[in-house]
Amino acid sequence: MILLVTIDFPGDVDYLRRSLRKGFDTEIDVSLNGLDPKPFFNPDRGQYSSTSIIERLEQETPAKASKVLAVTGLDLYIPILTFVFGEARLNGRCAVVSSYRLDNRSYGLRPNPSLLQKRMLKESTHELGHTLGLIHCQDQECVMKSSTYVEEIDFKGSWFCRRCRDFCGTALSRLK
Ligand SMILES: [Zn+2]
Ligand SMILES: [Zn+2]
Repeated sequence: MILLVTIDFPGDVDYLRRSLRKGFDTEIDVSLNGLDPKPFFNPDRGQYSSTSIIERLEQETPAKASKVLAVTGLDLYIPILTFVFGEARLNGRCAVVSSYRLDNRSYGLRPNPSLLQKRMLKESTHELGHTLGLIHCQDQECVMKSSTYVEEIDFKGSWFCRRCRDFCGTALSRLK
């Protein structure tokens, strides 16, 4: 089972739940507003620490969840970068993804809800891929290709390439 924890997430949780269930072929439980975001706020940056969120998820979420994915609308950072779309524990249990920098409105563009949903699904799959032990992939079509700019997310595919699938096959099947 994958546990989806929302933290001030303005998007369509049900779309994510259904899409992830289909892709990963496992049950998805949802915990609505499962974490208070206040402790993760850094007033100097006006952003939220993705690493602190992951650490808290590791401590507080039920062990029966094979993977835990937090989804949020908050702007996330790690100290060495201006922002991150998300972060995950490689081969671990927890990951977090934010819709903040995936939203056209962050770039002064017209909102595009269906594009935003697709980006959110790709980045959620990408971060869950890291928890399955996958590192970044050079395949242009693969969801594990790393994206620095939001446009790069639109160019890649929504699922793992064959090599990545083969690599994490056992971990994937253990989710069921
Ligand atoms: Zn990555
Ligand atoms: Zn790949």
